[in-house]
Amino acid sequence: MNLADCSSHSATARLLHFGSPGAIYLRRFVGSLHVGRCGSNPTHVKTLRLRSNPPKTLTVTAAMASEAELAASAKIIDGKMVAKEIRDEITTEVSRMKDAIGVVPGLAVMLIGERKDSATYVRNKKKACESVGINSFEVRLPEDSAETEVLKFISDFNDDPAVHGILVQLPLPKHMNEQNILNAVSIEKDVDGFHPLNIGRLAMRGREPSFVPCTPKGCIELLHRYGFQIKGKKAVVIGRSNIVGMPAALLLQREDATVTIVHSRTQNPEQIVKEADIVISAVGQPDMVRGTWLKPGAVVIDVGINPVEVRRLPLRLVGDVCYEEARKVVSAITPVPGGVGPMTIAMLLSNTLSSAKRIHNFQ
Ligand code: NAP
Repeated sequence: MNLADCSSHSATARLLHFGSPGAIYLRRFVGSLHVGRCGSNPTHVKTLRLRSNPPKTLTVTAAMASEAELAASAKIIDGKMVAKEIRDEITTEVSRMKDAIGVVPGLAVMLIGERKDSATYVRNKKKACESVGINSFEVRLPEDSAETEVLKFISDFNDDPAVHGILVQLPLPKHMNEQNILNAVSIEKDVDGFHPLNIGRLAMRGREPSFVPCTPKGCIELLHRYGFQIKGKKAVVIGRSNIVGMPAALLLQREDATVTIVHSRTQNPEQIVKEADIVISAVGQPDMVRGTWLKPGAVVIDVGINPVEVRRLPLRLVGDVCYEEARKVVSAITPVPGGVGPMTIAMLLSNTLSSAKRIHNFQ
């Protein structure tokens, strides 16, 4: 549900309250839309069934209650559903590999320090491994650990035949050199795809990286699975970080899109974004990309995850793109949450499985 006014994302973003007379609320179930009118009696629920594959999700406001308006809205790129499909495929492959050669893929995850968000990400990755049958190995070190200690664990994992992927949760404590640590991960087990050799190969024509970073890989996988053409299209990537924006731009270029990168020093970003058939945004600014920035019919992948505090309501997450405005202009868009986020973990599992297959020469 996103009924926010994108022009005021601050600590007190304005929101149409669920209890407002006339406001419409919506719940999504696979294959159908459940639309209800918010008010004193929320039990009056009207159900609209839309036939589409993948199923459509639409967020409904008071201003667009008719079925005709629903049909005209953007297709929602359902990352949660696609990630589930991918995880099911991985489960099948993990079990086939175990039955055929007795090998179970293994992922080692290192968490250094006490950041709560990092601990949550690590816990989610471990749970995801368990759900598909991948073994996980976790190392937790205190904030004040020495870099040499981290390097020793990485070296052990590099040599451990039960480990096919190594992930060091970022960010690291300030006293550690991120470059030294990421460089120490064996390129054959670099399932995050952050090793400079993997990034270098990604950038070079005719070279193949062993692994592609998970979030940008998830963005491209969504475009593929929904059948959006990339070749020959104008693509704009907003953000140029090493982990998302830059590799996303490289991947789009490898797929023969014509790519422009927008960053914090870009002048007139809205004019550049307006040209794009495909927009991938990875900035970290709530609702920065407005509906007026977007070309009608564009496809939007919103990587941003931004917690926003709304008066009297719990903290909620929004993307970089003003979803409410964008979905009236574009042909397809990822929601936040439920878009790119679930794909990132699915791609990590996929990279770990690929690594195990490659190491054991299993087709
Ligand atoms: P980051 O390292 O902070 O990079 C942000 C990028 O955005 C930088 O390149 C920066 O430009 C650019 N930028 C900042 N303000 C801008 C502006 N006003 N106009 C245009 N560009 C601007 O962030 P990140 O790690 O790439 O993450 C970006 C977002 O994606 C965050 O919200 C993060 O939470 C989210 N994320 C989501 C997932 C997922 O799984 N869904 C994974 C990773 C990240 P400069 O280079 O010029 O500074």
